[in-house]
Amino acid sequence: MKMYPITRLRLWLRCLVSGEKCIACGEMNTRGEGLMCRDCENDLKRSHLLICRECNSFARDCLCAPLIMRNNGVDVLVKYAFYDSEMRDSALNRIIKRLKRIPDGLAFAYFAAILSQPIGRLAAARSFTVENTVVTHIPRSRKMIARDGHDQAKHLAQAIAKRSGFRHKSLLCRLKHGKQQKYLNIDERIENVKGMFSIRKPSELKDKNVILVDDLVTTGATVSEAAKLIYEAGAAYVACVCLAKSDRSKF
Ligand SMILES: [Zn+2]
Ligand SMILES: [Zn+2]
Repeated sequence: MKMYPITRLRLWLRCLVSGEKCIACGEMNTRGEGLMCRDCENDLKRSHLLICRECNSFARDCLCAPLIMRNNGVDVLVKYAFYDSEMRDSALNRIIKRLKRIPDGLAFAYFAAILSQPIGRLAAARSFTVENTVVTHIPRSRKMIARDGHDQAKHLAQAIAKRSGFRHKSLLCRLKHGKQQKYLNIDERIENVKGMFSIRKPSELKDKNVILVDDLVTTGATVSEAAKLIYEAGAAYVACVCLAKSDRSKF
């Protein structure tokens, strides 16, 4: 959007005072409709046009889970968008990177509000109640939390729980950091995540519906490993939720 320098300066000063920043680029927000600047908002719309190759739906309507997740009893993966790793500088990629570094409560609440809609439909279809349902997340390693200062999956899970009216509990414990998954093929990823987690309080999972949250799902190897343990602890049903699902070709 073209703007006179003085107008831009005025908006910038106003944003500086009220602390409004675009959740994608972190620049002072010249306000699009939501929490993003117009440039990022327009760019993000392109991510929303990506279509699932299995069900031909846009991401927000697609519940498809990768084969490895289905093999571990998880047939639903709720997602906000498809993530295209080729589009390195897209608004979505910047949002994901930024949320790793900054615990931006407004951004987590924004995505939780959108994700809570398909979660609400799933909850109604499967009779989820506050008593029989728990929201948990894939924990970062201590090393990553020390580096970034927070755990973005935990923030997202807490925001989703609050918005959906369920309880959040940190029930998984990360035992090892593992190699960086992005350099591994699917078989190496499955090997890499073995023994990565343990369950903190198995009794909290007995007969429960579990909403398992991660920020980014690529092949699904990590969430599958966690889901396997959650089922072993006696959970009745596990559904996964993520901000973005990447690598559509691996479906
Ligand atoms: Zn922006
Ligand atoms: Zn789909």
